[in-house]
Amino acid sequence: MESMERSVLEAVQLERLNDLLTRVYEGVPTYRRKFDDADVVPHVDDLSGLADLPFTVKDDLRSAYPYGMFAVPMRDIVRVHSSSGTTGQVSVVGYTAGDLDRWSDLMARTFAAAGATAHDIVQVAYGYGLFTGGLGAHYGAERLGCATIPISGGNTKRQVQVLKDFGTTILACTPSYALLIGETALEMGIDPHTLPLRAGVFGAEPWSENMRAQIEGVLGITAIDIYGLSEVLGPGVAAECHMQHGLHVNEDHFIIEIVDPATLRPVPDGETGEVVFTTLTKEGIPVIRYRTRDISRIIPGLCECGRTFRRLERITGRTDDMLIIRGVNVYPSQIEQVLIGIPGVAPHYQVVLSKRGSMDHVEVHVEVGPDVSFDEIKTLEHLRGRVAAEIASALAVSIAVKLVEPKSIQRSEGKAKRVVDLRAQGSE
Ligand SMILES: [Zn+2]
Repeated sequence: MESMERSVLEAVQLERLNDLLTRVYEGVPTYRRKFDDADVVPHVDDLSGLADLPFTVKDDLRSAYPYGMFAVPMRDIVRVHSSSGTTGQVSVVGYTAGDLDRWSDLMARTFAAAGATAHDIVQVAYGYGLFTGGLGAHYGAERLGCATIPISGGNTKRQVQVLKDFGTTILACTPSYALLIGETALEMGIDPHTLPLRAGVFGAEPWSENMRAQIEGVLGITAIDIYGLSEVLGPGVAAECHMQHGLHVNEDHFIIEIVDPATLRPVPDGETGEVVFTTLTKEGIPVIRYRTRDISRIIPGLCECGRTFRRLERITGRTDDMLIIRGVNVYPSQIEQVLIGIPGVAPHYQVVLSKRGSMDHVEVHVEVGPDVSFDEIKTLEHLRGRVAAEIASALAVSIAVKLVEPKSIQRSEGKAKRVVDLRAQGSE
């Protein structure tokens, strides 16, 4: 399926899309209303017709909380997950038995593309629970025939012990947690390079190419980027192959569009914009043109691996996380990209927003590396100046930088918290 001719793929997409449009129009009042309001019929003659259909946004799912967007009766739902919302209502997603079957296949594809086979031992350190990461990875690894360890997130020393004792060959977790597991192993006197671990399947948060190099260096593995979100499926929407150059979108199950965030019109391959997905085969809660808020682009051209599915470049940021600093759009991942290139600082940082009088104040807190003495004022000041200058040069806006002691920024066992907003707590 992953290497079928584009013309065949497009025929499959069109047939599945029209089937989907009929299902949501008949089964989901929100879609019937949206289509009627936009004066469009639930049918397209060719794939370009998709661009005329209304978008779905997170608020649609929130206001249908919990089950209002489901396209099948509850008796057909066998699993419920929800998004990891920190503010307001989360969105709830439901899966039919068929959805779980397809999800397992897509995650099996993901592990296979990372080089896994039935001989592998997979440690799933994504959180199990309402979050889709743990169970999504779990079912995929089992579907491929891997020995699957459902350790879930947390208890990092135990993660290291299990890596070593159980002979784990593939680790699945967030990239920031992979790095923490590597650092913890070293602290425990265990060199990850001596373990059987050979690959990692990392996703659920934006990360950079430099962070990949860091993880691969510490753990001695191949680090593969994967992509998904609960509103669209969970993990399994797109994944890198061994070329490590863009995430192949599973286009037999999802149509991807990149739209201009201002005009909301699709842009050609190669141009950056907001990532939009339509789920072709989902039954429980299909979505039409779901705006992910993730920012990326399609990498033009075919991959050398032979797959014909187009490649999504790694996510550079989210429209939600985007900070506007003196008129310049800044994504935290851009800051990370800068930090990893500077010797003497660790890739652990937080962007702290506060109030100074009536003005917003932005400061990046950056940990110095273990080799830098915190007592050498001159060295620190030099390092701080360099970090500030490189951030200013890369982001085209200057941001205050504060160096903090090693290990002083709280480590995350799930998604790293990169932005701390203290503005509601009054002025400094
Ligand atoms: Zn490829």
